[in-house]
Amino acid sequence: MNHDASTADRIRIVLVGTQHPGNIGSAARALKTMGLARLVLVAPQRYPHNEADMMAAGADDVLASATCTDTLADAVADCRLVLGCTARSRRVQLQELHPRTAASRACETALAGGEVAVVFGRERTGLENEELQLCHAAVHIPANPDYSSLNLAAAVQVLSYELRVALLADGVTGMVEGQAAEGQARGAGHAPDRPASHAQMEGLFGQLAQTLDDIDFHKGRAPASAMRKLRRLFLRSELGEREVRLLRGILADAQRMARLAAGRH
Ligand code: SAH
Repeated sequence: MNHDASTADRIRIVLVGTQHPGNIGSAARALKTMGLARLVLVAPQRYPHNEADMMAAGADDVLASATCTDTLADAVADCRLVLGCTARSRRVQLQELHPRTAASRACETALAGGEVAVVFGRERTGLENEELQLCHAAVHIPANPDYSSLNLAAAVQVLSYELRVALLADGVTGMVEGQAAEGQARGAGHAPDRPASHAQMEGLFGQLAQTLDDIDFHKGRAPASAMRKLRRLFLRSELGEREVRLLRGILADAQRMARLAAGRH
């Protein structure tokens, strides 16, 4: 293994609203076999539970260090890349990645020092649309189209395997190349702009929604649809921290001008 072990530690697997505790144990085992160790449980229905311990087998250390949060937003707040795994194709209009492409993107972000989350939904109902909207992209395992829903822990295993292959293939060389490519993409000669975190993106979206109100953009239409499209656009762009600051500066000026205009009439 020639990649830095801490690279794998920047990747967390997030299970949302898991119903069967056995699946949590099996997922812990799937992670450990692939050299991953960070499991985050968002509002699990029955946990801790002896079925989870039983299915984890020798991966009880991964299970013991799993953390719990109340919401998906809490689980991914510090992440630069959030990938949501869905059994159904094109459920929301998000960019959809093949697991292999997703794993190599995850690996690139982790090698550049960013936190990454790969998110899995509930056994019965998967991820809600609002949860998918927190993701930069969706990941779909191209399974049998007539029966495309894998068992939760099996899906975790497929993604964990792809992450391991990507981490092994990239190694330290990947890090140097990755950083060089990022430097070129974001303006040579400058320190690379770190990808904005989930919380920074939510800050931008909050201000954007407020600004659209302030400038009367919606004119009576429901704001939700425009915001959904704008979220998609900005999440797809994978903005850097400096880029978010620039956009928020522009929004702040627009808000100031709107206040001035309102004062004049
Ligand atoms: N009936 C649910 C299936 C949930 S399976 C639905 O249609 O959404 C539980 C979780 O396993 C899913 O939320 C997803 O995260 C993951 N999963 C199952 N099959 C998958 C597939 N083919 N591709 C990607 N993720 C999958």
